[in-house]
Amino acid sequence: MHKLDPRRYRQTARTAIGDPVLQGALANLQHRLKTATAEAYQALAEGPGLRQIAHDIRRRAIGNLDTLLSELAERITQNGGRVFFAADADEAVTHCLDIARRHGVKLAVKGKSMVTEEIGLNPALAAAGIEPVETDLGEYIVQLAGERPSHIIAPAVHKTRRQIGELFARKLGIAFTDDPPTLTLAARRALREKFLAADMGISGVNLACAETGHMAVLSNEGNIRMSTTLPRVHVAFMGMERIAHRLVDHDILIRLLCRGASAQKMAGYVSYIGGPARPGQSDGPQEFHLIIVDNGRSRILADQTFREILYCIRCAACLNVCPVYGKIGGYPYGFAYSGPVGAVVTPLMTGINRAADLCQGETLCGACRQACPVDIDIPRMLLALRAKLAAGDRDWDVVPAHPAEARLFDFWAWIMGRRRRYDAALSAARLLQRLLPRENGLLRRLPPPLSGWTESRDMPPVAPQSFLQRKRKRGK
Ligand code: SF4
Repeated sequence: MHKLDPRRYRQTARTAIGDPVLQGALANLQHRLKTATAEAYQALAEGPGLRQIAHDIRRRAIGNLDTLLSELAERITQNGGRVFFAADADEAVTHCLDIARRHGVKLAVKGKSMVTEEIGLNPALAAAGIEPVETDLGEYIVQLAGERPSHIIAPAVHKTRRQIGELFARKLGIAFTDDPPTLTLAARRALREKFLAADMGISGVNLACAETGHMAVLSNEGNIRMSTTLPRVHVAFMGMERIAHRLVDHDILIRLLCRGASAQKMAGYVSYIGGPARPGQSDGPQEFHLIIVDNGRSRILADQTFREILYCIRCAACLNVCPVYGKIGGYPYGFAYSGPVGAVVTPLMTGINRAADLCQGETLCGACRQACPVDIDIPRMLLALRAKLAAGDRDWDVVPAHPAEARLFDFWAWIMGRRRRYDAALSAARLLQRLLPRENGLLRRLPPPLSGWTESRDMPPVAPQSFLQRKRKRGK
């Protein structure tokens, strides 16, 4: 099992970069989806400007979260469902375990849900003697392999067909094959047994609608429908920000979510869930629970600088274009969320100092914002996180990450403040650089504290004359 810890970013990233199989898989993913997503936005009937409309829809919803959530809870309760607001991961997990105990649950089938990854639900279920079975094919593969999802939408993107074939042969006892339809059929057979035997279905929520009191859950495999209707109890987990006000807003966001996630016009299966089965209905659970998870989101909501990250609808379009994700994959981010969105959300949820490398590792190229279906300005928030790491911030309990670097920049600013100081510094540098190793006219290694600069690149030496000196000489 990959240990989730954003403090291992550099070490895990280095391993990922050295893995040729992973490099091929990531390049393939980005190649397939990057252009296709941009084209899908262009092909929207309303044009790509719909992304800005969606941004405003999300801004208004996040600005009115309290009223929208109570409206949703009221409607679900009217429909016979039960709603629980969990302040943190522990409360959310404990509530789910209580429901499971009340119903004597031994087996739970799960639809894909990043929020249950975030709160660590599967290990807690297993520790309580309940077998959690992931039913999304990608999630099922990583669960069988004892791994974690490495992409928000495509959890097993890091695995080749051959690896999956070997895994299925080992775990499901079938003859080895790397033929995708045969492998899918094997998973389907194994999962069908689980669906029929499960006492509890667990799902995430892609987007709820306050006006109608329903939640949309999307899949391309039909597994969500089975997980949410076959077992007698259904528990849905929802991050508290995943809500739209009106049905018309909800519709726009779902259309954009499908385009951002996989360049599809619409997911294969869209389930609208609002409560348990009504009397006389043959399908649906006897009991429906919605657990709305805060887990640090209120803190983000209260900060105008970072509130915008709550507009995220977890489509993963930013991962599919990010040059950093395209090289290191999902594991180095060390939390449920990876890529550019993970580089903002993870520090805010798990500690900015603890996850310092995530925001420092991104390139600020802006591709994530261009790909985002709700036009979230991720680079702005990455810079804001870096500023907090540089200067410290009491509200977020941040201590300056590199105080020596800050002093170095103060010193540099002092030098740059006067021409004479700058010239003197250049002269000193010209003398000192004679002691440093060179190759092809470039400096190979700078001494500490500048050594990090030459760890992966050479440095041009200071020119023998400054531009001004040359200009003066030529003028003469
Ligand atoms: S930040 Fe935007 S692109 Fe990235 S997952 Fe969220 S909604 Fe999708």
